[in-house]
Amino acid sequence: MNKIIVAIDGYSSCGKSTTAKAVAHALGYIYIDTGAMYRSATLYMMEHYIDLSNPKAVEQALAQMSIQFHHNNRTGKNETFLNGLNVEEEIRQMRVTDRVSEVSAVPIVRKAMVAQQQRMGRKRGVVMDGRDIGTVVFPDAEVKMFMTADLNIRAVRRQQELLAKNEMVNLNVIKENLAKRDQIDANRSEGPLRQAEDAISLDTSYLTIDEQVDLVVGYCLSRIFEKQQALNSAGTLG
Ligand code: C5P
Repeated sequence: MNKIIVAIDGYSSCGKSTTAKAVAHALGYIYIDTGAMYRSATLYMMEHYIDLSNPKAVEQALAQMSIQFHHNNRTGKNETFLNGLNVEEEIRQMRVTDRVSEVSAVPIVRKAMVAQQQRMGRKRGVVMDGRDIGTVVFPDAEVKMFMTADLNIRAVRRQQELLAKNEMVNLNVIKENLAKRDQIDANRSEGPLRQAEDAISLDTSYLTIDEQVDLVVGYCLSRIFEKQQALNSAGTLG
């Protein structure tokens, strides 16, 4: 099988998920939004008042939590379900976004999410976006991208996304949230946000989504071609 894994990591609001979704669509692969998994875990912890400094309580909460993605045929989009409930909208709200980096810095939370992500990608043919996909979840991913962009540009993009969902948030509040999340994400002990040595870095500040997608699809197609060549020559030799 010539299917590959595409890992798209980077800072918040660089266009990772929009790019990853379009790349998955172009390749006929499954898209997995790992941020949605950490957001769902955060929502659960908030709703159940879990004390994050109590490892037993966190462990019990993780055992009670089931996070799944289902395709919505009406909207054509994947939606996130937490214990059977559609939480797609709720997990994107600022109250969850404000707490998510704190929850995702807890080592046993990461261990559980990483294990589920590795199960989801075990047959390859997936595009995963996150912070630690190329470094921890799939260090053997055939394509690794690391996205960055100017903080001001990212904040404006995020504000527009929130506005489209009727949530009006001050630009400075968004900027602070992005900077704070980047800081926590980059400095945690487990799976910190960092570029894998073999990742291709991509500054998306002045790129359109189409340009980003074309670039990534180009890298993917050459890796798929190489993999197919290797399979063919192994077949010829065998
Ligand atoms: O990608 P998104 O912005 O939705 O991610 C929300 C948060 O989830 C990030 O700020 C980060 O704290 C956490 N996250 C993570 N590891 C991932 C994906 C997301 O720690 N692989």
